[in-house]
Amino acid sequence: MNPGFNCTGQTACMASCGKSKTKPNGKKPPAEEKKQYLEAEFTKVRVVDFDLKELVLLPREIDLNEWLASNTTTFFNLINLQYSTISEFCTGDTCQAMTACNTIYYWYDERGKKTKCTAPQYVDFVMSLVQKLVTEEENFPTKYGKEFPNSFDSLVKKICRYLFHVLAHLYWAHFKETVALDLQGHLNTLYAHFIVFVREFNLVDPKETCIMDDLSEILCAPVPPTPAPAAPSSPNSAPSPSSHNHVTER
Ligand SMILES: [Zn+2]
Repeated sequence: MNPGFNCTGQTACMASCGKSKTKPNGKKPPAEEKKQYLEAEFTKVRVVDFDLKELVLLPREIDLNEWLASNTTTFFNLINLQYSTISEFCTGDTCQAMTACNTIYYWYDERGKKTKCTAPQYVDFVMSLVQKLVTEEENFPTKYGKEFPNSFDSLVKKICRYLFHVLAHLYWAHFKETVALDLQGHLNTLYAHFIVFVREFNLVDPKETCIMDDLSEILCAPVPPTPAPAAPSSPNSAPSPSSHNHVTER
């Protein structure tokens, strides 16, 4: 059905979540000691503060495949956009491999051959493949009455797995640059929304996402109720702490 769709990026150390791993070239992964993205000053920044779980639930009148197709396409566009904000810093020199935490992702070409590639090449492979899939009518049908293919479920899972790799790389290798652009709120919101979505529909193996569980637990926790204003009678009070909820216009 999909002769050209045998590519599977794979993790180098799927079963060793949480363990320190030395890269094949003998070098220790960088920044092992500190994950800036876990610091409270950054994790508290979001662009929305509503319940993401409610946002991802299948609406009663919507077909499951339609819902998965539309959300997957949206995540693809948003993650592509988020990556594009730092893509000038993700080069063959700065990111010689597609890394995230202690994991290196390898690309598998159409014949299943393992390919060593830089992070920008890997992301390019991901984005080109996903772009192709979501615009192919036989995979992501948009016309009324057109059936979804039998392989649709596995296609969506494959796409979500790749998109997770890109998000993980953004945090691992480009969080500093994201903060410099003041886009960490967007990244956090996108990441949390994506994780809540893939968990709801079981789209990515937890063995795959576990490398980022520390962040997922913080960002996907239910939003604490907003404390009642101290002086409700004062209409022109100072901005509340939740005034991080701005969207930066660029
Ligand atoms: Zn990179």
